[in-house]
Amino acid sequence: MKGCLFVLHKSNRILAAEAMAVHHSLFQCPICSSPMHVEELRQLVCLKGHNFDIARQGYVNFLPHPAASKYDQSLFRSRSIVSESRFFQSLDRLLSDRILEFNKKPNLHLLDLGCGEGSHLAFMLDRLKNAGRDGTIGVGLDIAKEGVRMAASRAPRLLWCVADLARSPLADGGFDVILNILSPTNYAECHRLLKDDGFLIKAVPGSRHLQELRSALRLSRESPSGVRLEERFRDSFELVEALPLRSQSRLDAALIPHAIAMTPLSWHADPERIQHLQALDCLELTMDVTILIGQKYRS
Ligand SMILES: [Zn+2]
Repeated sequence: MKGCLFVLHKSNRILAAEAMAVHHSLFQCPICSSPMHVEELRQLVCLKGHNFDIARQGYVNFLPHPAASKYDQSLFRSRSIVSESRFFQSLDRLLSDRILEFNKKPNLHLLDLGCGEGSHLAFMLDRLKNAGRDGTIGVGLDIAKEGVRMAASRAPRLLWCVADLARSPLADGGFDVILNILSPTNYAECHRLLKDDGFLIKAVPGSRHLQELRSALRLSRESPSGVRLEERFRDSFELVEALPLRSQSRLDAALIPHAIAMTPLSWHADPERIQHLQALDCLELTMDVTILIGQKYRS
């Protein structure tokens, strides 16, 4: 007897809509702050009828107008390629180890603020699920649509939002862990979005972060002061732990242009210096960060 096997693949939009329907209570309307639900696996709708389409790639754009940004598709593609080379692997491993250690819940709600193209969050979700935290859900938020679109295309079961925290689409107190990796922070929003027993985990650049790039492009030798960033962190959150992490990777010729393009460092650099750097056979590159882990101050 002949038989036919039909394998139906769900689209990214359907996968994202199903995940959003389960976790709709994490969202609030960015216009009127009322609760939201998923309608017809097509859009998020609030009690007053404000609605936001779920894009074909599997994300929701909550911005009322497109945000002007120099963070374009090529920057995020380069960042993704450098991530795949395992340049950030020690950082991602340490962050996921800390999450597992500090929080024993099987169904963590994890938020990555400034998620970019989503490499860090996708890595951590895989690692947490492999460690038995099967109910864990990840939400990635960034104002740069190009990054979020790339993130959703690759990991549609996570929840991805293009949004501005000044008009946040996320409800109060929904998250056990907020990640903020090498990206600006809105501490008041972190406070509002974290559960009372939640943790904010922020990675800030150390003085030697990407120092070989800075040196070759004749930029300021030091990245923004980690000490100042740590003081600002302490102003808003009780510091539980500060972990310095430094590693050096040898990038081959094919990776060097992507290391240059993955940050804004080259935007104001001399084109001749960029060309010289791009022509190198290999480049030793330093990752130097401090991981700050904090909790809400108990009043
Ligand atoms: Zn509304």
